[in-house]
Parts: sequence; structure tokens; C-alpha cells
Amino acid sequence: MTGLVYKSTGSWYTVKTPNGKSYECRIKGKFRLKGIKSTNPIAVGDYVSFELETKNDEVTGVIHQIQERQNYIVRKSVNLSKQTHIIASNIDQVFLLITVNNPQTFPSFIDRFLVTAEAYSIKAILLFNKIDAYDKEAIFEVKFLKSLYENIGYSCFEISAKTGRDIEKVKALMEGKVSMFAGHSGVGKSTLVNNIEPSLDLKTKEISEQHKQGQHTTTFAEMFDLSFDAKIIDTPGIKGFGVVDMDDEEVGDYFPEFFKLKQNCKFNNCLHLKEPKCAVKEALDKDEVAYSRYRSYIQILEGEDEHYRTDNFDE
Ligand code: GDP
Ligand code: ZN
Repeated sequence: MTGLVYKSTGSWYTVKTPNGKSYECRIKGKFRLKGIKSTNPIAVGDYVSFELETKNDEVTGVIHQIQERQNYIVRKSVNLSKQTHIIASNIDQVFLLITVNNPQTFPSFIDRFLVTAEAYSIKAILLFNKIDAYDKEAIFEVKFLKSLYENIGYSCFEISAKTGRDIEKVKALMEGKVSMFAGHSGVGKSTLVNNIEPSLDLKTKEISEQHKQGQHTTTFAEMFDLSFDAKIIDTPGIKGFGVVDMDDEEVGDYFPEFFKLKQNCKFNNCLHLKEPKCAVKEALDKDEVAYSRYRSYIQILEGEDEHYRTDNFDE
């Protein structure tokens, strides 16, 4: 049998088959996927093959194979072992919720997020939320950011999770896909998901589950089927995507507008810093590349931590 992993709690995995039946499955013996060293061999979003086993009238599954992943996101544990934990896999798209105030989402945070999504090969869509609550100045800021990111090629929407404005557009994008929602605490993720699917009260779940799990356990992701043809992966406590290990040379490739220009740089390994005849720097001088994007790029290269970047901008 084959199925999709909806939930994992350590050694047990909830796997749903195409006809909608769920089985509690475990892994037989040592089971490692080539090339990935992680604390968990299987994650939410994985497609697996399993066989049924009956013991004392209880039917459970034994997973013996996992399909190759389209992508996956990880969390590195903070302890000395630096082990990687796979949070979820096979994610079609992630919606980043952005608010220009209450709380303020800084461009540096957006850029770090987008770079990570590019590195993970996950499509990112920007949702400017709380449109109902903004004054003229804030609306201007939204329009500015929206056109900046649209010019690079990202889809952007102005929504209100509270009034429901343009939520239908978000739902249409979700059809037939596995989606995630990210953004700072307070940007409206729970409000949006509750508006999309009122029966799915993720926030309540988040609080009670955290309570149950205590502080030291890993936050587990979980997949949910919505009432229309869509799936959500809920990952309690994740505002962004964390930091992916990247070589300096890779970083520019995850800024799509830099990547396009790079072929015109004199050096094919140009880092767009002090090199002569750099197409990115030339475009920056002509205002064809946004200064905030270039600054984010430099900050990622310099490896400044997220806290510094998000708290020290005066934009
Ligand atoms: P989360 O931490 O990202 O899940 O954010 P919440 O969904 O808990 O929302 C944080 C606060 O913002 C709550 O008081 C919501 O009522 C409010 N909020 C969320 N979306 C909107 C919106 O579109 N407009 C307005 N005015 N308030 C919103
Ligand atoms: Zn260059």
C-alpha cells in the first residue's frame, strides 16, 4: 500500500491512503534515505509504501519505502550534535504574510525568507495582510513593497484575513496543492487559516499541544485536509524558514533578479561586491535593482543573525 504521511510523533507515523483511510505506521529496522543525515528518516508530506501487520486484533503498518522528495525543510537542533530534523517535505507553496505595522515586517526579513524558499525550491507567494487597518502612509508602503517584489517575479496579494478581502484568491491558489503559511507572530496567520477553514482552529491546537509536549520536545508538523481540495501543513512556532547553509557563491543565485543579471557580469563567479564590470552593481546604480535587496544580500553574505537584521532597520 502507498500513502501520505500526515503526522509524526517520534516513532509512529499517521499515513493516509488515497481512499482516505488512515493507518498508524512505524519503520522496520534501520531505515535511512541516501544522502540526508537527519534525526527522523520520515517526515510529514512524505509518500511511503507500507505493509499491514495484525497483532492482538490491532492493525498497524510497517513502512518499507519512501518516495523521492520534491523538496523538504529542516530545522537544525541547537545542541552540540547539530543534527538536522526534517520538518516537512513535498511542499508546493508557502504563503508569507506581511504586515507593514502591528507588527512591522522588514524587507530584510522578507528577503531572508525568499532566499531560503528559493534554496529549498519552494514557491513563495506574498500576502500583504491587514489592508483594512492601514492609513494612507501604510498603504503607500504596501504598494511600494508589492511593486518591488512583483517586479522580481513574486506573486503578491493585498488581503484582509479579518474582513475576508481577496481570501477567495488565496483559496483558488491553494486548490490541489500542499500549502504552508509563514510570517511573524501577529501578522494574522491563524486569523487567515480560520477564515479559509473555520473548523480548523490551528491556534487553539498550537497552544494545547505545546502545553502537552513541554518545552524540550521537537515541534511536530501536521498535515490537514481542507473542505475544498487543498492541504495545509501546520508547523507550530515557525515564523520563517530558519537559515540554510549556503556557500557565498550560491546566495546571489537565490535573488532571481541578480541571477538574471549575473550572465552579464565580467566574472562568471562574480559576488557583486568589488568586482569590475558587475552587472548587478551597474543595475543598482541605475535603480533597476532595489537597494533594500542589495543590502539584504550583503547582510546574508556577512552572516549577520536574523535578530540583528530585523531589529535594526529604520525603513
Ligand atoms: P498570528 O500570530 O500570525 O497567528 O496572528 P493572529 O491571527 O493571531 O492575529 C494577530 C492579531 O491581528 C489578532 O488580534 C487579529 O484579530 C488581528 N488580525 C489578523 N488579521 C487581520 C486583518 O486582516 N485586519 C485586522 N485589522 N486585524 C487582523
Ligand atoms: Zn556581479
